[in-house]
Amino acid sequence: MKRKKAGLIKPNSMNCIFCKIIEGSIPSKKIFENDELIAFHDIHPIDKVHFLITPKKHIENLISCNEADKEILSNMLLLAPKLAKEQGLQGFRTMINSGVEGGQEVFHIHFHVYGGSTKLAKI
Ligand code: AMP
Ligand code: ZN
Repeated sequence: MKRKKAGLIKPNSMNCIFCKIIEGSIPSKKIFENDELIAFHDIHPIDKVHFLITPKKHIENLISCNEADKEILSNMLLLAPKLAKEQGLQGFRTMINSGVEGGQEVFHIHFHVYGGSTKLAKI
């Protein structure tokens, strides 16, 4: 999260880069969209194929999720293998960074889905 003199710049739907991608004011390489979710290629891919699945609703991260987000979260997970297959992946890794300490940089929840170059190392 960025810092300014007065303190932390809190992410919200007004200053959120993914909300801007969702509304179309920032371009993206979109691979899927419905009323609830959108998926697009990561601008800095870490593998041959690397895309992000994100809800249109501005939710910060897994930490801020609650019971009301159950359906969105399960739909995001179920979408991953469908899109991975369309992108030519036989297998893939899914990653969700949560919070500054979890390596999160964009504070609009998203699932990373990537793979395609070599068999991924065990973690
Ligand atoms: P995270 O560290 O989980 O918050 O990951 C944020 C991801 O968003 C990073 O992998 C970035 O490369 C990616 N990203 C940032 N801006 C854009 C953008 N405009 N279009 C596509 N991906 C982006
Ligand atoms: Zn957002």
